[in-house]
Amino acid sequence: MSKILIIEDEQAIAELEKDYLELSDFEVTIEGDGEKGLKKALEGDPDLVILDLMLPSVDGFEICKEIRKKKDIPVIMVSAKKDDIDKIRGLGLGADDYMTKPFSPSELVARVKAHLARYERLVGSNPNANEIIEIRGLKIDKTARRVYIDGEEKVFTNKEFDLLTFLAQNPNHVFTKEELFRKIWDMDSIGDIATVTVHIKKIREKIEFDTSNPQYIETIWGVGYRFKI
Ligand code: CA
Repeated sequence: MSKILIIEDEQAIAELEKDYLELSDFEVTIEGDGEKGLKKALEGDPDLVILDLMLPSVDGFEICKEIRKKKDIPVIMVSAKKDDIDKIRGLGLGADDYMTKPFSPSELVARVKAHLARYERLVGSNPNANEIIEIRGLKIDKTARRVYIDGEEKVFTNKEFDLLTFLAQNPNHVFTKEELFRKIWDMDSIGDIATVTVHIKKIREKIEFDTSNPQYIETIWGVGYRFKI
């Protein structure tokens, strides 16, 4: 589900946009203050920002400029004045689209969908995009070496990360503890196959809802482990 951040101080407009976007299954957050909105755009994880121009504390021009320094997600700028559109274009802020109030909410939804689709095509073909493994609620970002469960980041040690990633990359394949130990740990590292058991336990505590009934890493008694897909 794509996440949309609306930075808009007119609550009635923001709520209307939100209602229409939610009908199309978007996850929507509203922020009425410019500074807080900018913080959410940069530190949160929105897939697209709908940005009003006139806002308390920091205006839309500045917010768009700051977002562009760090992110290339689509930004749709919204203004009450037609003249502002020319100004936005003239400033070359890098906004992807402009709309003048009042606009029809369904027109906004159509543009949101079009920009997200275009952006996904762009990112999909980007060779520098992070390599991600996604299985049900589990997301492993191999490039950033980060793990998320239902969007919440879990902290992994290096070996836990390597072990989980190796298993997830080879689903439905049973590995013995010896095989896993040889794959993940250096030949000369101190430890034995019990290390594998300990690490599997720690990984399960982080990713499983119920560790006694694991949904991801299955124990094959007397043999080893298998990643279920
Ligand atoms: Ca405003």
